[in-house]
Amino acid sequence: MRKDVRLYAKFEGLNPTGSFKDRGMTVAVTKAVEAGARAIICASTGNTSASAAAYAARAGIACFVLIPEGKIALGKLSQATMHGSTVIQIRGNFDDGMRLVQEVSRRLPLNVVNSINPYRLQGQKTVAFEVIEALGEAPDYHALPVGNAGNITAHWIGYSESAGADTLALKRPAEMPAYRTHKIVDRRPIMLGYQASGAAPIVRGRPVENPETVATAIRIGNPVSWQQAIAAGRESGGWFAECSDEEILRVQKLLAQTEGIFCEPASAAGLAGVLKDLELGRIGEGSTIVCTLTGHGLKDPDTAIAQGAKPLTVDAELRAIEGVIRDYLK
Ligand SMILES: *Cc1c(COP(=O)(O)O)cnc(C)c1O
Repeated sequence: MRKDVRLYAKFEGLNPTGSFKDRGMTVAVTKAVEAGARAIICASTGNTSASAAAYAARAGIACFVLIPEGKIALGKLSQATMHGSTVIQIRGNFDDGMRLVQEVSRRLPLNVVNSINPYRLQGQKTVAFEVIEALGEAPDYHALPVGNAGNITAHWIGYSESAGADTLALKRPAEMPAYRTHKIVDRRPIMLGYQASGAAPIVRGRPVENPETVATAIRIGNPVSWQQAIAAGRESGGWFAECSDEEILRVQKLLAQTEGIFCEPASAAGLAGVLKDLELGRIGEGSTIVCTLTGHGLKDPDTAIAQGAKPLTVDAELRAIEGVIRDYLK
């Protein structure tokens, strides 16, 4: 079904380590160094560890990352190890790692750089500023995948500051100024948060004990920014909904094959949700919609290869090549 909407993708895969996490990590690590920290720690589904490892390397401080064994995409693991962080795989999930990071940071001199660190959200809010700069106004809707729920909170903070509006989602560190002291836009978008069906605690209204999804970046059962995300949803008039793994993968491929944008599975959840809500008529005709595509598809080559067409193997002869092409063009 064809719908008359303006649909934009904000591709975060072009950040230094290939995900939006860099926006917040550069601020969090800078503030950690300023405070004299010698080591940072995070729990991660992959991208936080890649980003923390890179910024810690640049800052010359130690980095410890806790990841769920066997459940992070290969590209992300290669980044964390290549940048020289100490990677600790746990026999547990992200939520276990998050709890352990908070506990160990009370006992040892470690600076936590998960999104409970308010500087992370302060960096990540800049995505809203860029969208407003590009469009000249806020979109009608802004959709994104939701895992630990820091990013939807950060988007809402950015939009709220740009509109000179208050929000309960905001826990700004006292010394950090707002982007502008005056209103630069008249309104904020409706925020749409999409979770994977097997890891949809906010949609269901209760924690998920054993979250499971192909979109490993949002495989989280008990998000730390749950309450702020609810505030963003409520204040904006938005909602949370879920997408199945099949829907996520179908949209990841659709985007790659029609727009030439290769995002990772989790990133496609936002767009998959929007397409579904357009079908259902929950998003109106004529709307301007922005989807944040949170990370680069190269982070998860295994999932991409498992879905893609297999390469053809032929003899190194002109006739063989020509045959393949003629078949295709028939
Ligand atoms: C971290 C991450 C998310 C989820 O963001 P939250 O702030 O945890 O909700 C989504 N997609 C990708 C690619 C991520 O790395």
